[in-house]
Amino acid sequence: MTNTQYASKTASAYAVNEQGYYGEFGGAFIPEMLHPNVEELRRTYLELMRDPSFEKEFRDLLKNYVGRPTPLYLAERLSEHYKAKIYLKREDLNHTGAHKINNTIGQILVAKRLGKKRIIAETGAGQHGVATATVCALMGIECIVYMGEVDIARQAPNVSRMRMLGTEVRPALSGSRTLKDATNEAIRDWINNPEDTHYIIGSVVGPHPYPDMVARFQSVISEEMKWQLKEQEGRENPDIIIACVGGGSNAAGAYYHYLNNLGTRLIAVEAAGLGIHSGESAATSVLGTKGVIHGSRTLLMQTDDGQIIEPYSISAGLDYPGIGPLHAHLIDTGRAEAISITDEEAMKSAFFLSRIEGIIPALETAHAFAALDHLEYKSSDVIIVNLSGRGDKDLQTYIKEFDKYAM
Ligand SMILES: *Cc1c(COP(=O)(O)O)cnc(C)c1O
Repeated sequence: MTNTQYASKTASAYAVNEQGYYGEFGGAFIPEMLHPNVEELRRTYLELMRDPSFEKEFRDLLKNYVGRPTPLYLAERLSEHYKAKIYLKREDLNHTGAHKINNTIGQILVAKRLGKKRIIAETGAGQHGVATATVCALMGIECIVYMGEVDIARQAPNVSRMRMLGTEVRPALSGSRTLKDATNEAIRDWINNPEDTHYIIGSVVGPHPYPDMVARFQSVISEEMKWQLKEQEGRENPDIIIACVGGGSNAAGAYYHYLNNLGTRLIAVEAAGLGIHSGESAATSVLGTKGVIHGSRTLLMQTDDGQIIEPYSISAGLDYPGIGPLHAHLIDTGRAEAISITDEEAMKSAFFLSRIEGIIPALETAHAFAALDHLEYKSSDVIIVNLSGRGDKDLQTYIKEFDKYAM
């Protein structure tokens, strides 16, 4: 493994430019009072990440604390069912049960090197909150997580986990009291505490340099996929990579080292909720228009006069009205293909994967698997599905619908 692959220069049509743009998407649209924080990060993040002592600490923690590399597993029964060769990248086997810890490990190391004494974060389902609370406990740094009041009620086990880890969970009481309101509260906190606080954003969203920084930390996923596939198939490049997209961090990580390899199709799977045009959906690539949300120009669900439309999905991790600027660009240019999956299709697919492979996936991830029913491919194709997280957190939802979906 060469050094600092995640901090390498990726001069390409799909890399962020100096100004923080992917094509016409991205940038840093922030209140003036946040300018010093974001500017400090922008100036320092690449230099920090390229530092050999940073690299060593990041790699050591990924290996010995998170449990990387995660397996690339040839799912034989699933392959037989779909008549193609299907591999699963097992991000569900990471410490805390999903890919999110790759990013929070990276950002806590950035925060430490910038001398920050306090961490804030936003969370929806609580997965990013737990991953942030975990690394703050690991480093002994104070942590405050903002979470919508509605989500606090829906996601009680994750709230307890964060508290157990020593984090203060603060309810967001405005708007729909869900993820976007928690994000607004976190931004407000950061404005009031610019000197000593680092804001750990949980996906490839937000103002530049966050989308690029988070994508680089998550790029360890495709870095491993390359040598693991080479070992098992004798070639580095799969024909198709499938990943679910909320903000887009697990997808960005799974695509990263394949962006310039046009022979690999990239499939981005969004949540259609009750149906794309039902009014209860989070299918941003279909319903979204260009605008600014949480600091970057991207595709988002908005009314004609620019009010954000409340998204809906059964899966809290995909229930976001925007999409990271990298993904807006990939979809806009045709590099990635978007597929939308309904609640019902995702539920079916979660039960199916559990029975056919002995793996209970997160509801977000179940959307990615359901896309296999919509794709055209050849029987000689090698497909990698990024298994972003495990289903423990969704057990209540699964149990509630057990009679409907268990075969
Ligand atoms: C949070 C989460 C997602 C969605 O976030 P991305 O940034 O789009 O990856 C997907 N899967 C799991 C398991 C999650 O916890």
